[in-house]
This record gives sequence, structure tokens and C-alpha cells, in this order.
Amino acid sequence: MRDPNLIPPEKQILLSNIADQAASLGMPCYIVGGFVRDLLLDRRVNDLDIIVEGDAIELGTALVKKHGGKVTLHTKFRTAIWHLPLTINLQPSTLDLITARNETYKQAGALPTIKPSTIDDDLRRRDFTISAMAIRLDGGHFGELLDPLNGQGDLKKGIIRALHSRSFIDDPTRIFRAVRYEQRYSFNLHSSSSILINPESLSILKTLSGERIRHEFDLIFEEENSARMMARLHELGIFDVFNLSLPKFNDQYSGFLNSEPPADFGISVNKISLNYLLWFMDSPVEVIKYHSKRLDFTSELTETSLALVRLKKELASLADAKPSKWTISLEKVPLIAVYALWLVSNEPALKEFLLNWRYIKATITGADLKARGIPTGPRYKNILSQLRTAWLDGDVKNEKEEEELLNTLI
Ligand code: ATP
Repeated sequence: MRDPNLIPPEKQILLSNIADQAASLGMPCYIVGGFVRDLLLDRRVNDLDIIVEGDAIELGTALVKKHGGKVTLHTKFRTAIWHLPLTINLQPSTLDLITARNETYKQAGALPTIKPSTIDDDLRRRDFTISAMAIRLDGGHFGELLDPLNGQGDLKKGIIRALHSRSFIDDPTRIFRAVRYEQRYSFNLHSSSSILINPESLSILKTLSGERIRHEFDLIFEEENSARMMARLHELGIFDVFNLSLPKFNDQYSGFLNSEPPADFGISVNKISLNYLLWFMDSPVEVIKYHSKRLDFTSELTETSLALVRLKKELASLADAKPSKWTISLEKVPLIAVYALWLVSNEPALKEFLLNWRYIKATITGADLKARGIPTGPRYKNILSQLRTAWLDGDVKNEKEEEELLNTLI
């Protein structure tokens, strides 16, 4: 094994427990995929992807018996999800145990048909050579590397290589995965794979559900180098696959993709949503409406995107407005949209709103008006909003002045 610090101690213990259990069942057991790739790249590993040649359900059941927790079984695919006991403090707190399998695609772009098989077949169903390696865990085999497709060679050369010529036709989401790994590791998509991004595979990509495509963009927006990934997808023609082309990501906004709001803004921002907002901010309303439907955006994301575009258009007309006018406009828009617009425009009023204006209210309340014997009705709203406006615009600076204004209003 490489630098042991790349695998946190709790994960090492978990792997060794699984290895012991698999060995006692006489079941070849492997860790595969991203874990092996990242370990060989000397990067800290994340997901644990466990495969057994045999029966993952038997392994899962035995692990629960020995170490506790619970197991969910999927008998059709012979997979088990081990819900780890509280004594194993890991996130995520579940672990997938998979029976080695072979996958065939009855129809391009459809989900695969699965059959139990060998680890060799299991590695050959994967996306790229660098993710098609396994390390054996059980017994005396612990630490053996299986690399039937020379993933190590491609890792050394910095190459992303699909496993066969139908790879992107079977599953066009692999095109997004290719770009993600290429840009994440600063690798190159091998020419034998880049030619597979062609009219045939793109025509299948076009048929995929909005949810599947959006999921790939979500994964991209979780990455640090998402701007480079978006540029690369654009360069490969992926954005033009749809009836209405996806907008090119505005390079000038790249620096904002990983931005976190300053603590004194008092807002927390979901990075993925922020990135979609930055992406669509300069698009016409029809383009946003089309793609939010096509990519199956949540209604919240769709509405926020549209509100942001409207606000951006309004910006010039608000330029010399008083704080109260700004506040009335900005309060109609989700805070994340105000933040996104502040990032790209640096407009001081947006910052002022986030920091201060949105908290300013009249100190006099409806109850005070009632106590003065003013009959309840729409007039209340009117008076209170005039008081707030006066506070916001600095026409009232203290409670005495507020009181005086109230007296003139009533
Ligand atoms: P990441 O660091 O992006 O999470 P990962 O390799 O762990 O990388 P996962 O999406 O968790 O990626 O997938 C686990 C493994 O499953 C991959 O390493 C790959 O071998 C295989 N895999 C995932 N998606 C596909 C796919 N669409 N086609 C073929 N194999 C896939």
C-alpha cells in the first residue's frame, strides 16, 4: 500500500474487517474504481466500492452478525447495503457491497442488464481504464493489484481512455465523466476515445432524461475545476446537442464558482445552485425556461434563475435609487440570487442590502398603532411601510423622529 495517511484510520479498520470476513467465507473480495485510482495518484481516497466474487448478500449478512449494524438486501442484483454500526464512525454511514457482475446494454443509452460474473468482467463493464482496477483484500491476497486494462499505464501517461468503441453509445453520461476526470487530474482524453464523441453517441446523449443529464452537471459543479470542465464540454460540442443550445459558461464568472459568501453576509449558499445561476444569468428567459424543463431543474432553481435575470435587467434603472427602492426590489428575489448578482456586478447597493438594509424595520409596530386607537385595516400596512422607508432612506434616525413622522402620518 502507498502512504497510509491517504486512507483515514477508520476506513483502514473497516477494510480490514471486511477483508477478514471475506477470507473466512472463502470469498475473493476487492476494492475497486475511484479508490484504487486515487490511491495510485497519491490522492486522498473517498468512496469505498467493495466487490466480491461470490455473494455480497452472504458477506453483508456475516458482517452484520459479527460487527453489528443493519443490512438491506437486494436479492435480484445480489447486492447488500451495510448500515454501519454506531461503533464505526464514518460518513457516509452506509457501504455498498456488490456481487461482481457483467453488464450488457439491450438498447443504447438505456440502463444495463446485469448478471453475476467474475471480477475481470466487472472491471470490463466500467468507464475508463484508470477506474477499472481493483485491489484484492481477502486473506493472503491482501494488496494484490488487478489491472487487466493497463489502467496504471494510463495513469502514468495521464490518459483517459474508454474501454471499448461502443462505450459512449451504451452510456453517453460517460462523456461527462471523461471530461470531469480529464480536467480534474489535468489528463488528456485519448484520441481513440475522443473520436467516440461523434454524431452517433451525441444523438443518444440527446435522448437521455433531464434527470440523468442534470446529475452529471451537478457532479461537475461539485468539482473545483468546474469552469474548465464546462469550457471543455462546450468545446466538444456537447452544449449543441439540444434543440436549443445550452449557453456557454461565461469565462468572466469562473472565479466565482467556488466562492463562499463572507460571514457577515449571514447567508449560506448551495454551491451547485450558485453555479447554475452563474451559468444561466446572461441567458434570455426562453432559454432558461427551455433548459430548466429539459434538465429537470427544481421549481426553486427555475424561479430563482428567472428572478435573477429580471433583477439583472433592472439593475441599471435602480442605479441612483434610494435604499428603500432597492430594498423593495431585492426583497422579491431569493438571497442567493442577490449574492450571485453582487459577485458579478460588485454593485455596492446589493452588498448593503445583504449586510444591513434587509434587517431594517420600523420600531413602531401594528400593536402600537392599535394602542393609539387607529382602526385596523390596509392603512396599517401603508403607515408601517412609510415608517420603514423613512428609516431606510435616513429620513428618520431615531425613535423620536419616527414618532414625529407617525404623528404627521396619522
Ligand atoms: P469520483 O471521484 O468521481 O466519485 P469514482 O470513480 O468513485 O469517482 P463513482 O461515480 O463513485 O466514481 O463510480 C464508482 C465506479 O463505478 C467508477 O470508478 C467506475 O469504475 C464505475 N462507474 C461509475 N459510473 C459508471 C458509468 N457510467 N459507466 C461505467 N462505469 C461506471
